[in-house]
Amino acid sequence: VAKQAGKNRYHQFDTAQEDAINFQHKSIDNIRLALVNNEFTLHYQPKVNMRTGEIIGAEALLRWQHPNQGIIPPLAFLPAIEEHSISLTLGEWVIDEALSQITRWQAVGIHLPVSVNISAYQLQQGNFTERLSALLAAHPEAKANWLELEILETSALQDTSQVSATMHACHALGVRFSLDDFGTGYSSLTYLKRLPAYLIKIDQSFVRTMLDDPDDLAIIEGVIGLTKTFKRQVIAEGVETLAHGKALQKLGCELAQGYGIARPMPAANIPQWCTN
Ligand code: C2E
Ligand code: MG
Ligand code: MG
Ligand code: MG
Repeated sequence: VAKQAGKNRYHQFDTAQEDAINFQHKSIDNIRLALVNNEFTLHYQPKVNMRTGEIIGAEALLRWQHPNQGIIPPLAFLPAIEEHSISLTLGEWVIDEALSQITRWQAVGIHLPVSVNISAYQLQQGNFTERLSALLAAHPEAKANWLELEILETSALQDTSQVSATMHACHALGVRFSLDDFGTGYSSLTYLKRLPAYLIKIDQSFVRTMLDDPDDLAIIEGVIGLTKTFKRQVIAEGVETLAHGKALQKLGCELAQGYGIARPMPAANIPQWCTN
């Protein structure tokens, strides 16, 4: 009986694994089709200086406008295609589209740096710098220093010497870097010091609880102190209320992004948001 049960369990595991593989194949096909059908779009979330009210940039966030399912958020489809070449194609589409948008905004007098999110897998490709350089060359009106690449702190901690070398090579092209979801990865100070990231983004999980949890407040204080020591800029993500914004400014963080300031919006809404 035990043997039989074991065999069944093994069989169950097998089919679960098979389902996962089928799901991945299906997802890959769907993404490929969605790219061909132009179903992807970028929404933009303003980053502001809370003290001056100035908009300092916008983060491009991927959206899938599905013909039947409506707008699908990135975490609903990116994990299924992680580490597959289609994620690289999609990642290049994102950079290309962001550079096009920088150019379109520039033509109407809006000079806005745009950041895009880059996966660890993208950054680990040996030809990443070359590909980025080709994309920049294809958009001569978009200056390289208006493009910012957001790397998860945890991604920057993988393959550290290669990631750091690639970041330096891209930085030499003029592209800027920020470290996203910072505070979750426990970067060592010496490692952080070596990375060419001008901006540190405090993860929203700490911001959300900072007014209730003294430990999270202390982490935020620590991260802000760290950025001052290394002469980097710091921005808080997930700022939803005035109280959070005020507390952050009191701690010395005046840059912010969050629903309390603006939700991610279609590119067409940004010019009006900038002039209001
Ligand atoms: P992220 O880069 O940390 O982006 C911030 C996420 O938090 C976005 O979710 C944004 O809409 C959301 N957000 C902003 N302000 C607030 C707030 O005040 N409260 C709350 N609760 N949420 C807020 P979104 O657009 O669903 O993206 C989720 C994640 O997906 C991103 O996190 C990023 O890691 C990834 N992602 C998005 N676009 C891309 C992309 O083009 N490529 C890659 N590789 N990853 C992407
Ligand atoms: Mg980001
Ligand atoms: Mg983040
Ligand atoms: Mg995040």
